[in-house]
Amino acid sequence: NFVPKHPRTAISGALFDAAAKVIPGGVNSTARATWSGWTPYPLFVAKGSGSQLEDVDGNVYTDYLLGLGPMILGHRPPEVTRAVVDFIETRGTVFALPTADEATLADKIVAAVPSVEQVRLCNTGTEAVLYATRLARAFTGRRKIVRFEGMYHGFSDGVYWSKHPSIPAAGPDSSPRPVAQGPGLPAGVEQNLIILPWNDPEVLRAVLKTQGHEIAAVLTEPVMCNTGCILPEPGYLEAMREATREAGALLIFDEVITGFRLALGGAQERLRVTPDLSVFAKGLGGGFPVAALGGRREIMALVSDGRVSMAGTYTANGIAVAAANATLDILARPRFYGDLDAVSDQLRHGLQAVFDAAALPARVVGIGPLMQVWFTTHAIRNYRDAERFADQGLFDLWWRGMLARGVLFHPGAYENLFVSSAHTTADIEATLDAARDVAAELSRR
Ligand code: PMP
Repeated sequence: NFVPKHPRTAISGALFDAAAKVIPGGVNSTARATWSGWTPYPLFVAKGSGSQLEDVDGNVYTDYLLGLGPMILGHRPPEVTRAVVDFIETRGTVFALPTADEATLADKIVAAVPSVEQVRLCNTGTEAVLYATRLARAFTGRRKIVRFEGMYHGFSDGVYWSKHPSIPAAGPDSSPRPVAQGPGLPAGVEQNLIILPWNDPEVLRAVLKTQGHEIAAVLTEPVMCNTGCILPEPGYLEAMREATREAGALLIFDEVITGFRLALGGAQERLRVTPDLSVFAKGLGGGFPVAALGGRREIMALVSDGRVSMAGTYTANGIAVAAANATLDILARPRFYGDLDAVSDQLRHGLQAVFDAAALPARVVGIGPLMQVWFTTHAIRNYRDAERFADQGLFDLWWRGMLARGVLFHPGAYENLFVSSAHTTADIEATLDAARDVAAELSRR
């Protein structure tokens, strides 16, 4: 009894068929592919505007996909658009030489983020993580990186392991085996990784105690955003900070999603735990491709003198720097995060109330403008809990029901709903009305 996508989205279907002839899978990212949940095809976009997105068939959606996170100001934020257009019209795009604007931007990032004394730009989160792990290895002279089951740190060979492995094939809960996220990753690379369950301070302490001399860094999202939304349990990040310091290993926060979103200083400001290195992307650029790696001066010194190379034709290009400068000026306004949180809380609490009223087993988990619905009453502390307890079938029905009523978010239960500063109280009320309808249908099943 859920509206199938076909009749309302016929043009998307036709465009997909044509695209699939010349683009593998018909799309330019796995996350948009039919096998990632967009069955039978993804929506093709006509345009976005503020909190709204319009597909090629003329359907309009309230957008909580938000480009997977960059559109923290909503679509086409006028000040960012103007800054970018001005820059490229009056100055250019790529020079292979520095501009004054880069130091202006770095000043803003250093002022905003507690752990960052120096910062280098690059283009994507994947790149920034690659540099962070390389820098950690160079700084410590050690080889291994600890990472956690269920997280995503980009698609480079060194870290694209154990994102969403099948359980129990991935081994015991407290000492998982690294599992390649698909074929083509060079065998042997995983010997440089230690995979752990998240939110378990005892396991982490034990590993750092026994293998610490080999561990260059612990790499983590401060909030797990790539298996739905899982918050760190009280004291967990603090335990991580202490145990890495004792072992002489670096703590790297992958703030690609949380950065410039949970606070101007990211999760590290909001949760008050200071890493050695941090990685940023998405929110930083207001929709334009830009990423950053920053941290303690003594570590970044390896980049300063060229011992560790961070390069790239397009790094700190004019578009990226103009977009990030304009975005950070907006994010730094006094009420920005208070207002964003208020609208986001309205959605999170509102959705929970809708599910409770319908007696559905659902928990809305999140922090600030970042959230996901778990269809279970069981607490989800890590990836294996999600695999074991969350009802993915129910999530799929919820997603379809909401899409049919003009509310867009990612079809994957392991993704997030994002809220932007363009979302209004009226947007949230309309979304909650749709949610009431869908919840009623789900509870009648
Ligand atoms: N780290 C995290 C935590 C991410 O969520 C992502 C992308 N979703 C990345 C790294 C990779 O970033 P990018 O897609 O910009 O390469």
